[in-house]
Amino acid sequence: MRLKVKGGGTHLDLQHFMAIIKAGTPMAKMKAVVKTKRAPGAELCDIDIPRPGPNEILVKVLATSICGTDLHIFLWNEWADHRIHRIPQIMGHEVCGQVLDIGDQVKHIKKDDIISAETHIACGHCYLCQTGNGHICINGSIFGVDIDGVFAEYAVVPANNAWLIDANIPRDYGSIMEPLGNAVHTTLAGNIAAQTVLVTGCGPIGIMSIAVARACGATTIIATEINEFRKQLARQAGADLVLDPTADDVAKQIKLATDGLGVDVVIEMSGNPSAIRQGLDAIRPGGRFSILGIPDKPLEIDWGPNIIFKYITVQGINGRLMFSTWHQTARLLRSGRLDLEPIITHRFRLEEFEKGMDLMKSGNCGKILLYPHENVP
Ligand SMILES: [Zn+2]
Ligand SMILES: [Zn+2]
Repeated sequence: MRLKVKGGGTHLDLQHFMAIIKAGTPMAKMKAVVKTKRAPGAELCDIDIPRPGPNEILVKVLATSICGTDLHIFLWNEWADHRIHRIPQIMGHEVCGQVLDIGDQVKHIKKDDIISAETHIACGHCYLCQTGNGHICINGSIFGVDIDGVFAEYAVVPANNAWLIDANIPRDYGSIMEPLGNAVHTTLAGNIAAQTVLVTGCGPIGIMSIAVARACGATTIIATEINEFRKQLARQAGADLVLDPTADDVAKQIKLATDGLGVDVVIEMSGNPSAIRQGLDAIRPGGRFSILGIPDKPLEIDWGPNIIFKYITVQGINGRLMFSTWHQTARLLRSGRLDLEPIITHRFRLEEFEKGMDLMKSGNCGKILLYPHENVP
């Protein structure tokens, strides 16, 4: 029997696959992108297909996507050297997968289900988990950072982290639901309807935030970005005004676009100190300043005039709410209001991951998807 799955090609024969796994023969190998050294780069390796524990599921990776975090780990910057403890490790955390096997204790997922995955793995019993804040669990770990990830033909996912995808959501979007969730969490962390919004930094999540703000009723959306390719993506995603901080008088243009008041909401996606300062200048008194972009190093802010007397709310955003953000994200996708197609700019086979990393480094891309099995759609 050959399995056919909607949106995909012919899939591996399930019975044959399980026979291979149970027999533990040397054939039960898969290709995976592995970080093998504490240095720049990664290797495509043949390694054993993992087996799910009692509360885990094994998935066939239908699509995976490259995140900024993966690029940091690939390039092995200061952050990666400090943060990554486990080498060798399979990279990647964004995934759309078809369930091939489930652990004994798993009740809510069945074989052949299509899933995406929340990548923050929460302990379920600390103070934060017990009070509805599993995304900042004090014992938490992250796929592809603390444990093996999903840049592979097959991957094991904790069943509690799996998010079932229904047929109304395209398979490719399954892989990017996790970063889209970051954008949804940041954008909807306060009022957005009828608000004027500034998005600083138009990497993939910044672009997604523009699309979410547009879908949820923001009136004027302004974006700042220096890369030409990404400026164009920002316009396509729904930005009314795209400014280049190296060429435009950003403060003046924002005043003009907001009746001299400044924007109601700043969504900081760049981590860039000058973009952060520009955002603090551009926000109106009493506004919301929500931050997902991570600065490389500590930065100096003049709290008095920028935050206290301006009476603004500064809000750090980490991950996605588990799982209310996932519900919001799925509803937005099902509604058809979010067109992610312009945001997915490149599709490669998994083996071509280095091409994807180079593109990410150049900034001349939106979201990049990798396909470990079928031909690239
Ligand atoms: Zn990610
Ligand atoms: Zn916890």
